[in-house]
Amino acid sequence: MKKRIIISGGGIAGLTAAMLLQRMGHEVTVIDRALEFTPAGFLLSLKSFGVTILEQLGLAPALQDASIPAECMDFVDAAGSLISHNSYQELAENTTPSILLTRGGLHQVLYDSIKKQDNLVFGTTVEQVQREGSLVRVILSNHQALEADLLIVAEGLRSATRGTYFKNSYLEDFNVFYVGGRIKKAHSYQVGSFNTIITVDSMLSIYPISREEVAIQCYVRCMDEEGDYRSISRRLLQEKVNGYQPEVQHLLAEFLQSDRFYADKMGMVRAPSLVNDGMVLLGDAGYCPTALSGMGASLSIYGAKALAHFIGQSPDNMALACQQYDALMQPIVEKFQGNARSNAASFLPKDEASLGEFKSAFSSTSESVLQKRLANQTGLTEDQLQVILH
Ligand SMILES: Cc1cc2nc3c(=O)[nH]c(=O)nc-3n(C[C@H](O)[C@H](O)[C@H](O)COP(=O)(O)OP(=O)(O)OC[C@H]3O[C@@H](n4cnc5c(N)ncnc54)[C@H](O)[C@@H]3O)c2cc1C
Repeated sequence: MKKRIIISGGGIAGLTAAMLLQRMGHEVTVIDRALEFTPAGFLLSLKSFGVTILEQLGLAPALQDASIPAECMDFVDAAGSLISHNSYQELAENTTPSILLTRGGLHQVLYDSIKKQDNLVFGTTVEQVQREGSLVRVILSNHQALEADLLIVAEGLRSATRGTYFKNSYLEDFNVFYVGGRIKKAHSYQVGSFNTIITVDSMLSIYPISREEVAIQCYVRCMDEEGDYRSISRRLLQEKVNGYQPEVQHLLAEFLQSDRFYADKMGMVRAPSLVNDGMVLLGDAGYCPTALSGMGASLSIYGAKALAHFIGQSPDNMALACQQYDALMQPIVEKFQGNARSNAASFLPKDEASLGEFKSAFSSTSESVLQKRLANQTGLTEDQLQVILH
């Protein structure tokens, strides 16, 4: 039976859910606080079940068009000495599918696939939610009032609606700042090769998009810093610059001058229950695993598919569908958040001894063992996959 569903947040999770629910015949309204659709963001690796689900939805050609070259990922130290070399192609053949693209590219693919774009309302947010019998009444900041059978909250990491209506949820602080962006500059790197420099308390990746353009992303650990994340990130990165090789120093200096970078502080959302009285959390709003797990996008796509699956099974009992979604997601979230914590410990070594351990562990481990480890980090159990992929 056709249901009315409001999705607050038209990011990766929200648009995937909208596409699935629209295809099932439900009446979906997506609201977003952004004033217009903006395909923003830095590199994102869509892995494993995230790729499988979107391919199943017929988006393989669009994803292929949006993808960017990915040959290999090399871990090096500050002096440029190789710690470990990993080929993307072998990884994809031996473990799970993986596509490198920008977050904006993926967002655009999803946006283009939404049939009824007139059901997307920009420049507004959820002001108040009231329960009226089996319906939710949502008052928007543009003073419009909407009624629906379910409100899906997919507002990303810093979701305001989660803050107001999911009081038991909290943000685990990783004490890690993230900076990402791109600059136009000639360089000596091989296009398609990811160069990741691991030093104490930081991980800097240089990814040459073309002969004249380089993408840069950096994670820097820093305790007890309060204030504007952008200026803190800039200062932290500036403090690191001298430790790198001359070409990296030049790239970073120009990158920081350009002012065209995205900066944030890494956090991980934990919600003991993803469901509350006619509302359900989806994607980063409910279970962000931090970019350090490399699974944020795939998990938000999986969550959207799982929620749509259970709504499809019990369209007349949204409470049951949401409970089933919550029960499926909780152990998955626990696993991937655990991976994010251990990745933070390995890839952001806290001192010289931990850096030494990282180097010897990675340089002595064969590519196939590393690939198995990665497959385990990106995989789900057969049951968790099959329940949504029927
Ligand atoms: C601008 C931007 C750039 C990003 N860049 C990267 C990146 O480079 N690499 C990476 O790995 N991940 C990036 N991410 C995060 C990544 O998109 C998510 O980890 C993941 O895809 C989960 O998607 P999501 O839909 O849950 O959240 P998001 O993709 O963050 O989408 C959340 C959506 O909700 C909207 N929103 C926020 N608050 C409200 C509100 N109160 N009311 C209504 N709408 C609201 C936002 O405008 C956005 O459209 C970025 C996110 C954003 C918003």
